[in-house]
Amino acid sequence: MYLYNSATHKKEEFKTHTPGRVEMYTCGPTVYHFAHIGNLRSYIMEDVLEKYLRAAGFDVNRVMNITDVGHLASDADTGEDKMLKGAKREHKSVMEIAQFYTDAFFEDCRKLNIKRPDVVQPATGCIDEYIRIISKLVDTGYAYAAGGNVYFDTSKLARYYIFNDHDEDDLAVGVREGVEEDVNKRSKNDFVLWFTKSKFEDQALKWDSPWGVGYPGWHIECSGISMKYNGEYLDLHCGGVDNAFPHHTNEIAQSESYLGHPWCPQWFHVHHLNTPEGKMSKSKGEFLTVSLLEKEGYDPLAYRYFCLQSHYRKALVFTWENLDNAAAAYTKLLGRIAALVPGGEVDQAVYDEQYEKFLQKMGNDLNTSMGVTAVFDALKLKTGDATKLALIGAYDGVLSLSLLEKAAALREKAAQTVQAGTADYSVTGEGDPAIDALVLQRYEAKKAKNFAEADRIRDDLKAQGIEVTDVKGGAVWKRI
Ligand code: AMP
Ligand code: ZN
Repeated sequence: MYLYNSATHKKEEFKTHTPGRVEMYTCGPTVYHFAHIGNLRSYIMEDVLEKYLRAAGFDVNRVMNITDVGHLASDADTGEDKMLKGAKREHKSVMEIAQFYTDAFFEDCRKLNIKRPDVVQPATGCIDEYIRIISKLVDTGYAYAAGGNVYFDTSKLARYYIFNDHDEDDLAVGVREGVEEDVNKRSKNDFVLWFTKSKFEDQALKWDSPWGVGYPGWHIECSGISMKYNGEYLDLHCGGVDNAFPHHTNEIAQSESYLGHPWCPQWFHVHHLNTPEGKMSKSKGEFLTVSLLEKEGYDPLAYRYFCLQSHYRKALVFTWENLDNAAAAYTKLLGRIAALVPGGEVDQAVYDEQYEKFLQKMGNDLNTSMGVTAVFDALKLKTGDATKLALIGAYDGVLSLSLLEKAAALREKAAQTVQAGTADYSVTGEGDPAIDALVLQRYEAKKAKNFAEADRIRDDLKAQGIEVTDVKGGAVWKRI
C-alpha cells in the first residue's frame, strides 16, 4: 500500500516496525456533545483504512482513546474545559456527560458500519500512566514545574514542528484565541502536561500527583494510552487534520523525549467536512448529527457512501443536495445488486484477478472512490451473477456499505410483494419493491377490467423511466 504521510509530505510505501503487524492509533472523540457528521467523516475514513489493511493481510491492533478530561476549548492550554462546559450545559456531572456521549458516539458508529477499535480507553482510566511519563520527562529535563502546572519544554527539541512550517507569530496564543497568554510558560509553544488545582477551581475530576492535586493535559493522554496498548513503536497515527497542530505535534515531542527513540513514522490526517459557510464544529453549538440525517429520512449509510465518493485528503463540502445525489446513487446501486440472482459457481480466476485489482486501486493512498467504482465495474463484468456477488461481498468487507445485506432485503421484499398478489402472477424487476407493487396494482386493475386505472399506472411507471413487458404468468420491468 502507498499512503500519504503528513510527517514527510510524501506518498510512501506503507511499512511497519514488525512485518505483517500494524500498531494503529486513532484520536477518539471529546465526549462533551454528540459527534457531528464532520467528526464522523474522519472515523469513517479511518475505519476504511483499518479494514483495507486487514484485507491486505496485515494483523492490526487498533487503539482509540475517549477524551473525557483535559481538552480545553483552544486545543492548546487556554479557554474553557470542554467537559465542564458540557456538564454545565446539561446540569449533570462530568462522568454522566462522558458516559452518555460515549454511548451516543458508538451508536452513531454502529449506524455507519464503523467497527469498534480493538482497544477503547477513556483517558480518565490511565492517570498512573501519564504520571509515570511526566515524572521521567521532569527527571530528564524535558519538563518543568511553574505556577503549579507542569510544562513540556519545547526548547529542548532539535525539531518541534513536524507537519508544517508555522509562522511563530501566528501561534501567539493571545492573538489566536482572544484569551490571555500563560505567563508560566518559558516559551509560547510549551504545553501543559499536568494542571494542578491552580487552574479551574471547579474542575470536577482531580487526582493526586507528585506536583499536587490536578489533572492531565489533553496531549499526554494519547501518548500514554498508545504506549500502553500499542507499545513503544507505533506504526500509524490517525486523526482529523486539525489535530496535526498542536495536538499531534505535542504527542510526538513528549513521546520521543520520553522513549529516547523515534515513535511513529506514519501520520494519516483526514481533511475536514465543511458546510458552504465554513468548517463544521461542535463548539459552535449548531451542527449536523447522524440522528438529524435519520430524522430527515436518510439512511446513515447514504452518508457513508457520500464520504467514500471523495478522497480523504480533500476538504468535502456538505449540502443537502450533495447528500441527495449520493443517496440516489446508493439506492440505485442496491437495486442493481438486488437484480443479481444468488447461487451457482464462482469463477475463481475472474474473482482473484478482479479482487487483486480492487486492492491495488484502493491501495493507492486509500482511493475510496475507485473502490466504489469497482462495485459498478463488477456489475458490468462478463461473468455469472455468483462471481459478481462474491466480488461485491469482498469489496464491501472494506467499504462496509451493507451492499449484500441490503440487496438481499430488497429481494426478499420484492418476493413478498409478489406473494401478496396472486399465485399465478409474478413480477420480475430490479429489486425495487415500490415498483413491484405498482406493477402488481396494474395487473389487478386489468383483472378488474378497470383499464383506465391500468393505463394510468402504466403511464406513471413510464414517467419514472420504467418499462413493463407482459410475459406469460406475470410481468418483467426494467429501468430504461
Ligand atoms: P473531537 O471530538 O473534537 O476531539 O474530534 C474528533 C475527531 O474529529 C478528531 O480527529 C478531529 O480532528 C476530527 N474533526 C473535527 N472536526 C472535523 C471536521 N469538520 N471534519 C472532519 N473531521 C473533523
Ligand atoms: Zn489524540
